[in-house]
Amino acid sequence: MFKVYLSCKDYEYDVRSMIQAFFGNLKIEADYVDNSADYNLYAQTSCSNIELRLCYDNMADSSDKEVSINETDELLYKAAYKNVLKKELYNMFSKALGKTLPWGTLTGIRPSKIALTRIEQGISKEDIIEFMKDTYLCSLERAELACDIALKEYGILKDIDYKNGYSLYVGIPFCPTRCLYCSFTSYPADSYKDYVEPYLGALFKEIEQTSKLFKNKTLTSVYIGGGTPTTLSAGQLKSLIDKLKECFDFSTVREFTVEAGRPDSITMDKLKVLKECKVDRISINPQTMCQSTLDIIGRKHTVSDIYDACNMAEEAGHKVINMDLIVGLPGEDTEVLKDTLEKIVKLDPANVTVHTLAMKRTSNLTMNIDKYKDMLSEHVSDAVEYAKNYLCEYGYEPYYLYRQKNMTDNLENIGYSKVGKEGIYNILIMEEIQNILALGAGAVCKFVDYKNKTITRVDNVKSINDYITRIDDMIEKKSNFLLKEGANYDEIFW
Ligand code: SF4
Repeated sequence: MFKVYLSCKDYEYDVRSMIQAFFGNLKIEADYVDNSADYNLYAQTSCSNIELRLCYDNMADSSDKEVSINETDELLYKAAYKNVLKKELYNMFSKALGKTLPWGTLTGIRPSKIALTRIEQGISKEDIIEFMKDTYLCSLERAELACDIALKEYGILKDIDYKNGYSLYVGIPFCPTRCLYCSFTSYPADSYKDYVEPYLGALFKEIEQTSKLFKNKTLTSVYIGGGTPTTLSAGQLKSLIDKLKECFDFSTVREFTVEAGRPDSITMDKLKVLKECKVDRISINPQTMCQSTLDIIGRKHTVSDIYDACNMAEEAGHKVINMDLIVGLPGEDTEVLKDTLEKIVKLDPANVTVHTLAMKRTSNLTMNIDKYKDMLSEHVSDAVEYAKNYLCEYGYEPYYLYRQKNMTDNLENIGYSKVGKEGIYNILIMEEIQNILALGAGAVCKFVDYKNKTITRVDNVKSINDYITRIDDMIEKKSNFLLKEGANYDEIFW
């Protein structure tokens, strides 16, 4: 248990994030003290019950060149103040635990966005690296990685008029089984089979109604994800794509992805439907090529199913295939990862996405951590580094990057690609630079106000039952936002 005494609420989230970055899933209890209380930044980290006291007034006095107390813009003041606070906490924990974090004080999910924004302003790579090291205490290696990825993204994005377009996400929330580490909206396909048709009925209604709001807008990319879209039958997949094409103008679409995902949901007839419907990018996600790990994580398929899915995809004519891996799965060390990477590279996918295991609060893994904790490797950062070097040696280049909460060793997920095969949607969504219309249970629209540099999220309910019964509310919520607030807030797109 970590007990925190705070003198104001403004930075509680940042304090919590910094503690979590160092101490993982330790329970944090926050309490408030009077502003006049004389607490200095203080922590006792040697005992199991850790106590931290903060007083922001003292913080301001003890720091810093970066916080101008006369700053008139409250937002700028808060951002600068937050950095100082997080640096103080970082240095304190780092000293007490003898440990550094690869991304320093950065606890948000998009480090490459910091670099991309500065590249767009014409700032040099060297200056951005120095900025990330000084301001956020990032390691040189991570600052370079963020810059290299941002430069790659910049090169890809310059040919896309993304500000005048939008992308479409459609979620299918069914999976063959629930993976041990999963926290997504996902229902077991067998026990929820009676929900599939009503779900598609509600989804078709959402597609029909929301598409009217996007008439005359340019559709850049389409992504059907989940869940596992290929839990739908070949006929259902065809109906879904037909409905999308009937309602949205696909003539401008530069990339159409379907996350086939689980090998145990992929069949030749489904792959053929996807090919006939001009899907040009699919995912087949093994996560590991080790059978005992697949059994532990509840995937209920074999390594040979992965080979079969890849062979069928090739036979059906799919040229751009992404394969997802997770580093740090229970029971795996770098040797197991080496074997997985060798097997994956031999399959020659266009993209490989390397995730670091994240301990999601609602996953079965986190909820039963006592059962698995002895199976978790302590050398995940070495394995992540190995994967990076190995993939680069075989012609894959990192092209997008994001982080999640509670990632092992505060690492990251990296998308690698053969040159020219990068997934555009992944960049657009991760950098939050384009409007995303998201449909289906648990889907979250992101609407970008370029002028004011803000993003508004409009989400759907996660529960499949609520989604089906309250579909009119979901449609109305989007319409209200787009026709009222959205119409006013951004003259570029709306
Ligand atoms: S395939 Fe993905 S969405 Fe489905 S249960 Fe596994 S992690 Fe969750």
